[in-house]
Amino acid sequence: MPATVRPPVASTPPGRPTDSVSGGVLDVTLRMSQRAGLGRRPRGTAPTDTHTHVPGSVLRGALAGAWLRTYGPPQGAPPVRRAEFERLFEGGVRFGPLFDPHSAVVPLSVYRCKYRSTPACEFSHIDQAAPEGATVSGEPDRPRCPHCEDGPMVSGRGEVTFFSGRDAVVDITRTALTDEGRVVPHKLFTRRMLNHRVGDGHLRGETHRAEESPLRTLVGRIILPPDLPQTCVSWLRDQPHSVRIGGDRSTSGAAEITIEQPSSAPHHDPARLVRDGRLVLRLISPTLLLDAAGRPTTRPDEAWLGELLGVGTRVERSWVRRERLSGWNGLINLPKPEELAVSAGSVYRLALDALPDANALDRLYRHGVGVRRAEGFGRLELGAWSPPPIVRRPEAENRVTPPIGMARELYETGMGGWFLKYLRPCLDAKRAGRPVDTGFLELPAVEAVMRDERRARLIRALLAKPPRLLEETLLHLEARVRGVER
Ligand SMILES: [Zn+2]
Repeated sequence: MPATVRPPVASTPPGRPTDSVSGGVLDVTLRMSQRAGLGRRPRGTAPTDTHTHVPGSVLRGALAGAWLRTYGPPQGAPPVRRAEFERLFEGGVRFGPLFDPHSAVVPLSVYRCKYRSTPACEFSHIDQAAPEGATVSGEPDRPRCPHCEDGPMVSGRGEVTFFSGRDAVVDITRTALTDEGRVVPHKLFTRRMLNHRVGDGHLRGETHRAEESPLRTLVGRIILPPDLPQTCVSWLRDQPHSVRIGGDRSTSGAAEITIEQPSSAPHHDPARLVRDGRLVLRLISPTLLLDAAGRPTTRPDEAWLGELLGVGTRVERSWVRRERLSGWNGLINLPKPEELAVSAGSVYRLALDALPDANALDRLYRHGVGVRRAEGFGRLELGAWSPPPIVRRPEAENRVTPPIGMARELYETGMGGWFLKYLRPCLDAKRAGRPVDTGFLELPAVEAVMRDERRARLIRALLAKPPRLLEETLLHLEARVRGVER
């Protein structure tokens, strides 16, 4: 199916700032119109899991597929077209990962509140890699959230995390089919998929009907090499691309990609990013690092970093996780050999001999780290992490649940008496201004209740709010429990 062609966008005047230094940067927007199964290796017998972002390798594959549908296989194309394909997909173009703007890779160096029972908790974080954090002595192992009653904080795992309580994944269960397409009786399989609708019944309190809720968009960047022919840039930019992403492409994965000149180029301000001679480098895609002997390593080459930055560079501290990558080469339809990679979310804090200039920081950003960068590996961001800026908790979750509603919630767990027993000492503690011991919420008796994320959130919020709310809740709860006992 050929991509629909729209009139070319007004061309940008020559000498635009985004083309300075070394090639341009393009903004990518992918708008999903169907669910997508962006396969990742399942754990044990768990259903086939999905990525909740679009990895750079998937973006590259999707655009290469769109090119092939328009022009046919490059072997059969005129030499000029074939050269174009190679420059776009096998040359210096870097396809970055695309993320829902409500999500982010939470780095391994970042602590966040474990339970996030108050709206402020969502944004509270400590980045151990932040240069200002470096001066905090002792780097506490068990920091506590300042916004809820001493909630524990846990470090990021490099996973793509959705903020504002949004859930992006749906479980789709289908009947298994034989190779001939016949139904296998009593055999079901489940696969997890990235939902193309935002808040499709998964965000309680939002009452969108499925067909009314907005379509999910994911955004990211493509980085162009300085000598990329204008025809390649135009192909990327001057038309929307109809693509399919992920597995099971007959019934899922339809999306449209638009690529635009950004309104402003990413600017890396040395005064903002480098503090006390330290620069934070965060990986946002898996990265393949090799040592001098060509073996996998978890440390980027300091001499090479120094060359890109133009100043002496040392890896002062790192927060690293490794993973085994396996993949499928869609172009030749064969599995790729397994590789040992450094995971997205890994962080390096670099100590620099001198202040690099903005061009040097741009150079490192555009270059990325490690090998096979054309395939989407080794994309990075510079500077300490912060949560996604546009995130706002939905009103429904911001609202305080009135005591009578809260009492009903607790009563309906079937453990009203149990909660009365454990919540009374909490009220006493709150009235006396002592910290509340929430250890009882970890007891096995209440495990099933706390597994319901919404309920757990309400209960923790109740304990974080002023004592009056808890007091009234307990009065209503007691009335209900007694009413039944009599
Ligand atoms: Zn908290």
